[in-house]
Amino acid sequence: MPHAVTLIYEFLSWRSVLDILLIAAGLFFLYRTLLRLGTWKIMAGILLALVVFILANALQLKGIEWIYHNVSNVAVLGLIIIFQPELRKVLEKAVSVPPHRLRDQDTSLHALIGEALVKLAQERCGAIIVFPGKEPINGKISGGYQLNAVPSLPLILSIFDSNSPGHDGAVIIEGGKLTQFGVRLPMSQSTRLSEEYGTRHHAAMGLAEQTDALALVVSEERGKVSVFVNGEMHPVRTTDEIAKAIVSHQREMGFLNRDSTPKIRKRTIFQIAASLIIAIVFWSTLIISQREVVERVLPATIDYTTPAEDLVLVGEKANEVKLYLSGPKSEIDNLANNPPSVKIDLSKMAKGSQTIIITSENLRLPKGITLLDTSPQQLKLTLAAVVQKNVPITPQIIGKLPGNLKIKQITVIPDTVLVTIPVTKEEKINEEVLTTPIYLESISTDSKLFCKVIARPSIQPVAKRWPDVEVIIELK
Ligand code: ATP
Ligand code: MG
Repeated sequence: MPHAVTLIYEFLSWRSVLDILLIAAGLFFLYRTLLRLGTWKIMAGILLALVVFILANALQLKGIEWIYHNVSNVAVLGLIIIFQPELRKVLEKAVSVPPHRLRDQDTSLHALIGEALVKLAQERCGAIIVFPGKEPINGKISGGYQLNAVPSLPLILSIFDSNSPGHDGAVIIEGGKLTQFGVRLPMSQSTRLSEEYGTRHHAAMGLAEQTDALALVVSEERGKVSVFVNGEMHPVRTTDEIAKAIVSHQREMGFLNRDSTPKIRKRTIFQIAASLIIAIVFWSTLIISQREVVERVLPATIDYTTPAEDLVLVGEKANEVKLYLSGPKSEIDNLANNPPSVKIDLSKMAKGSQTIIITSENLRLPKGITLLDTSPQQLKLTLAAVVQKNVPITPQIIGKLPGNLKIKQITVIPDTVLVTIPVTKEEKINEEVLTTPIYLESISTDSKLFCKVIARPSIQPVAKRWPDVEVIIELK
């Protein structure tokens, strides 16, 4: 299949690899961001639309293709407007340099936070503690008081004490320091957190959706601790679990040394693979539909179908035509190796002369190839009525008998044959067929020769085959 081969060649060029990798990377980050933002349903919708389009393209469903062609530009504009905040985030993320932070190797801090949160939960004292990730959170938070203190159990318990004026809001711990307290976080804009949770939980979810920060929440009503990260909420029960959640977030952000064997999560591998596959499928459909278009002249043979029963094609007829074609290069190359034929349907044509214009209806061209012109552009054809008739088979005698031998009699068996003959004036002049030549020089006695029949193309035997003919020559 030369078709598949050209496609593989195109795949292997560095340009296409780069192209695919960039599309896949874009998809991957878009997917991760949208997933965290809780807009994955829209994302799934877009993917579904893409799949439908690819299928429609493959099955050549004209209607769906038309809709996509005419609606897609408007739809892209619409999506850009709908996703404006998210797209801005993706772009911000792409250009933002992660802030340089002190590496926090002091794991006792995490144990301390775990201990404080468990204690706050036991005392039914609501709290939020935020560990920012690599993305800046200053644009997302508001209010609060600056502090640059080493975290300690009494300090945290004091801050969240409901009698303390600064207990409302969140505490920020960055670079091992408690930098702010009483901070307001952005509310979640998704519907993934159920309404049974109040503003505290929705605020923590909001930050976890809009940034890569980790937020730990103590519920005043429930006396439970939850961790919010990447737009997801998980319960955590013990000091240990809380410390682990913080450590794994710090590792992921690169603030802590990774384990000696860094394990990439299965989910990430799956997301990368899915992005790559979608990018490859998208890219190849695009390439298939947009490959370089060329113009080429190709010869084609003309096939005439048999005319209606009592008619026959007479006179000269063209057997070849030049096609001026335009289409994707690989398709045209393919066609050159496997030339098309022009079909002229004589079965519906009436008696007489007529002009047939060759159009794309007369030949089967692959999708995407257009017929620009043909040479000749038209064919002049004449159909004549035919009659059945017994015509004589005349022996075709050539030369002279040797010496003074004379012919007494020539008998031809059979001496007539039933043929179809077109009814035109010129054909009536000699209604006969000949045998293959008989050379008299080589004949010296009575002979019996076996011959074939020769006739003009317009005269055809009714029996479909010409009979074998016996010619008996008797000499004097
Ligand atoms: P709980 O389970 O502790 O009751 P909740 O999710 O039901 O939490 P609320 O009962 O509404 O939430 O808790 C209100 C408290 O949440 C406020 O007093 C305040 O301390 C905190 N809070 C509310 N909104 C924000 C915000 N945007 N940022 C930080 N803290 C907030
Ligand atoms: Mg509440």
